[in-house]
Amino acid sequence: MSVKPLGLDPAQCFIGGDWCDPVSGGTLTLINPSDGSPLCEIAKGNAQDIDRAVAAAHDALAGPWGRSTAVERARILSRLGQLVLEHADELARLEALDVGKPLKQAHADVVALARYMEFYAGAADKIHGSTIPYMNGYTVYTLRQPHGVTGHIVPWNYPMQIIGRSVGAALTMGNACVLKPAEEACLTALAFTELARQAGLPAGVLNTVPGLGAEAGAALSEHADVQHISFTGSVGVGKLIQKSAGENVVPVTLELGGKSPQLVFDDADIEAALPFLVNAGIQNAGQTCSASSRILVQRGVYDRVVEGMAARYAKLVAGPALDDFDVGPLVSARQKSIVEGFLTQGADLKVAAQGRIVDDAPDGGAYVAPTLFENVSHDHALAQDEIFGPVQTIIPFDDEADALAIANGTKYGLVASVWSDSGARQMRLAKALRAGQVFINNYGAGGGVELPFGGTGLSGHGREKGFEALYGFSTLKTVAALHG
Ligand code: NAP
Ligand code: MG
Repeated sequence: MSVKPLGLDPAQCFIGGDWCDPVSGGTLTLINPSDGSPLCEIAKGNAQDIDRAVAAAHDALAGPWGRSTAVERARILSRLGQLVLEHADELARLEALDVGKPLKQAHADVVALARYMEFYAGAADKIHGSTIPYMNGYTVYTLRQPHGVTGHIVPWNYPMQIIGRSVGAALTMGNACVLKPAEEACLTALAFTELARQAGLPAGVLNTVPGLGAEAGAALSEHADVQHISFTGSVGVGKLIQKSAGENVVPVTLELGGKSPQLVFDDADIEAALPFLVNAGIQNAGQTCSASSRILVQRGVYDRVVEGMAARYAKLVAGPALDDFDVGPLVSARQKSIVEGFLTQGADLKVAAQGRIVDDAPDGGAYVAPTLFENVSHDHALAQDEIFGPVQTIIPFDDEADALAIANGTKYGLVASVWSDSGARQMRLAKALRAGQVFINNYGAGGGVELPFGGTGLSGHGREKGFEALYGFSTLKTVAALHG
């Protein structure tokens, strides 16, 4: 099968408004993780392609895009959101084939991508500078201006959502973008790029260069003519990106995943909590930066929570993405073997329950049965390291202080949630938890286009999503006029 997103040749880059072959002429093979079969060849962009893309973005900034008004940008984003919705079925199918997302999840990602365009279209002309009272005879005000060329290095787990949140906010503020999708997930990035062209985005404003991380990705993050880098992915690569940004003295947004806890207290509504506790761990086969991989449970309700979660796990089925099971395959055989390595490390732990892989799942698929471990000690590797698979650990605790110490006791800090009926406890913990987002009596794994998102510690820094992202994707200029 050779997949053609929106009828395009997937082995091309999009640079300066044209679909073109990569300079190397080389290609990489995309694999369908549901059965291990090749899907198509994509472009193997390299440093020269990135150079051309960065130059095209600068040319665009020197042209009409650099003088565009907020409302002109808003109209393009608005049309783009509409086009995304009109192509929802094809986009969802491409994502399901490419990364193994069950169709329902893939559709939810399409809607989120459209929502980012809608949200940022609406926000574009509502971000203001301020006037500052100053000395007599002066008028002082601030301007929000684009950084210039922004680089976007996107992982494979939520390509559409992550492109939406970072490219959407960058375009809103008038930047010109160079996008490097993950080599394992390119199809919706290519389709989105084509839809942006159709929506009227001028040539050079969005350039998309697929390729290897160590080649195209590194060339983009090291490029001296790029003024901002947004990266979502692993801690190891995040550190490299930050080093390059340091070398070029440019701002960087890093979103590096987590080990996000949900804290369940004796006074919580357990029945209400159970679907959130499980879904936040198995959504997207656990390959979610904000996955809740640690469930901390007070001893008074410990047995009830374990039994309730185990009953749900026992019903989970993993299978091919297009058949829309609870859980799809992992993105690749490589990711499967990483997760299996963790399961081996958990051989000494008690398995509370496991889901199953559907009987006729293709042999070449990257399936892992969802697995729930209980009574895990806080310092075990499975309770400390990001697994990025459908695996959760349940950790018992005694009291609030104990829960907080465990919750904050990893190197990450992305998301947390508190399940409790006590308003005072909710407020205390919302302040004390080390996380960029805290949910109270719910858990929004990755959801919420409107909600600022990002981490602390090894989870990274900077905020994307919501209005807040518009500050990150712009720079502030102070203008002081002396007029007497
Ligand atoms: P990764 O290597 O960090 O990949 C993320 C993005 O960075 C991809 O576009 C990748 O390109 C690119 N990249 C890789 N090496 C680069 C370099 N030297 N310079 C610039 N860009 C580079 O992540 P992964 O290997 O796909 O996944 C490994 C682990 O990372 C997972 O098991 C998970 O724990 C974590 N992860 C976290 C998130 C998250 O949302 N926070 C997302 C994905 C993965 P290529 O893919 O083309 O190499
Ligand atoms: Mg793939």
